[in-house]
Amino acid sequence: MATIAWLGLGHMGGPMTANLVKAGHTVRGFDLVPAAVDAAAANGVTPAASAAEAVADADVVFTMLPKGEHALAAYTGSNGVFATARPDALLIDSSTIDIDSCRTLHDQAEAKGFRFVDAPVSGGISGAKAGTLTFMVGGAVGDVESAREFIEPMAGNVIPTGAATTGQAAKICNNLMLFINLASTCEGAVLADRLGLDPKVFWDIASVSSGDSWALRTWYPIPGIVETAASNNDFAPTFTTDLANKDIGLAIAAAKSTGTPLQIGEHVQKLLQQVADAGFGGKDCTMIVKLVDESLGD
Ligand code: NAD
Repeated sequence: MATIAWLGLGHMGGPMTANLVKAGHTVRGFDLVPAAVDAAAANGVTPAASAAEAVADADVVFTMLPKGEHALAAYTGSNGVFATARPDALLIDSSTIDIDSCRTLHDQAEAKGFRFVDAPVSGGISGAKAGTLTFMVGGAVGDVESAREFIEPMAGNVIPTGAATTGQAAKICNNLMLFINLASTCEGAVLADRLGLDPKVFWDIASVSSGDSWALRTWYPIPGIVETAASNNDFAPTFTTDLANKDIGLAIAAAKSTGTPLQIGEHVQKLLQQVADAGFGGKDCTMIVKLVDESLGD
């Protein structure tokens, strides 16, 4: 069993590390928020007082951080991963970040002789808890294969995507589709309600019909229908509006650099921005349903 350093013990990193501990690994965890470290420690993670303390002598380093800027800081800072990890440590970034930051991390890792893969995930907090996440892993073939055994306790699927940054490319395109699906689910759900359908009856139909999607089955925006949905819990975040806005922004940036028109994606980004501007960026992204039922701010 390996010693694994983990930086970023938030909504995803917390339950993901619990599954690595269950698999028998020693996991040393660090987060800038002490409460996140305490919560992970309750699941068997060894708390570290700094990133450098977590990373020193570890066989494997995982990062699960919000954005590219956080990942760049965590790897390239003077006490960052590149400065403190064992030269033969395997470095795995599971954050969802922009392609340019991901490319920088790959280039710097290579220049310093580290093995590095981009391995973002899909499946949400429920998938993180259940150990059923889909990992999309980009990098050198041998490094991707080496990462597999450490990823597997957290994964339902481990899918090699190809060369450096292709894991992020897959994740960015997947999430573009997710948030478009979410927006369409919000419109269908509210319209069904106004047409007099029982919400459960409509959900039962859509979930076995052509309106089905992961957003519908996991994040249904009408309360009382899907257990995992934030709509049951006053939109306490499972995936914040700010993170969703970030992710769709990554797709829009990637689309600009490739000359790809994303008319629907750009519209959904405006909806997420509207929710954030109303002061709900820290609430769950399924709050865009409030833009359909016209009660945002109530
Ligand atoms: P989060 O904000 O809950 O957790 C991120 C954690 O990183 C925070 O606790 C923060 O304090 C910590 N952090 C920031 N900089 C740090 C540093 N330098 N060192 C140590 N810790 C640091 O976010 P999350 O929901 O766990 O998401 C993490 C990543 O996974 C994001 O890129 C997100 O887009 C992606 N993701 C999230 C979900 C989801 O459903 N929440 C699903 C798939 C992917």
